[in-house]
Amino acid sequence: MSNLNPRRRSRRVTVGKIAIGGDSPISVQSMTKCDTRDVGATLSQINSLAEAGCDIVRVAIPDMQAAQALGDIAEESPLPVAADIHFDYRLALEAIARGAKKIRLNPGNLRRPEEVKAVVEACAERKVPIRIGVNAGSISPDARKPYEDLDDPAEATARAMVNSAFGHIRLLEEAGFHDIVVSLKAFDVPATLRANRLLAEKSEYPIHLGITEAGRPPAGLVRSGVGLGILLAEGIGDTLRVSLTAHPVEEVRAGREILSALNLRRSGLIIVSCPTCGRCEVDLSDLVIQAEERLTSLDAELRKSGRTLQVAIMGCVVNGPGEAKEADVGIAAGKGKIALFSRGRPVRSLPVDEALDALVKEARRMAAGTS
Ligand code: SF4
Repeated sequence: MSNLNPRRRSRRVTVGKIAIGGDSPISVQSMTKCDTRDVGATLSQINSLAEAGCDIVRVAIPDMQAAQALGDIAEESPLPVAADIHFDYRLALEAIARGAKKIRLNPGNLRRPEEVKAVVEACAERKVPIRIGVNAGSISPDARKPYEDLDDPAEATARAMVNSAFGHIRLLEEAGFHDIVVSLKAFDVPATLRANRLLAEKSEYPIHLGITEAGRPPAGLVRSGVGLGILLAEGIGDTLRVSLTAHPVEEVRAGREILSALNLRRSGLIIVSCPTCGRCEVDLSDLVIQAEERLTSLDAELRKSGRTLQVAIMGCVVNGPGEAKEADVGIAAGKGKIALFSRGRPVRSLPVDEALDALVKEARRMAAGTS
């Protein structure tokens, strides 16, 4: 039985071939980090992200040239492309015309109702959803004002973020538009938790989770894992992005791992490996790195077919045989030998230098249903 809260009920919107909200799987997003005007570099990053298991990719649209480049990017991209818009609503109009499948607007810097309404009309015509993306760092002074006197700064930030989001939600709803996703992101985890809990109570729109400016790994991974993990365990969140000062593929891997840790999305390869200690009989770290590399394509195949395979790589006989038996395929090191396990049974004892080949082969055989 799961100890997680049931998932909050939310409306369902579609971003190209991917649904967000309702009972659709919690999707993983990332953002390209190269110049969007460089179509080749952007597509190359998008392809890497797709290979890593990303569901939706966002690109920054800082100027009209970037908005125009979106046409070629959207046409070739294997993932639905969201356009990230700040300050200038005309960039949103161009991105929509060029094939953006979702628009992110920041209420902190796009405030004129008539400009927002122009974007809403274009989105409605093409069935493109809008994410109202509030960041703690760019909340408008008007949205902050009612909470200036609160003693708790996290509470004040949380309430100001919710206030800012609802200002835009009302604008969109007045125009009869409901294909809305909302995100409330702060660097401060308690503020992000409070803001999202308030939002979840007050609205049925799907929620995009994130901790913004989370930093480099490992700090950014921990901060995001804690913030997103708590909300997901409470049943809040329909899609997520882990923001890291790192290659975007790292963001996708982290997002998938957060979901996998809560058993919210089980597809792909799950590697169980011990931390090693003075009892370890082999260079386990090297074995795990090599196994991950050699099983990358299998991971992608499993994700595409919605299946999982658990592989255990363990350093000695203390916990090794137990974990290796629990996994689909596993190896446990002993004195000068490695035991190979398949479906919980020991099948062979191998010299150390043959263990990796045997593990990879058995994992592939099992995934292909031939073992
Ligand atoms: S399985 Fe063995 S080597 Fe690995 S951490 Fe446990 S005791 Fe140490």
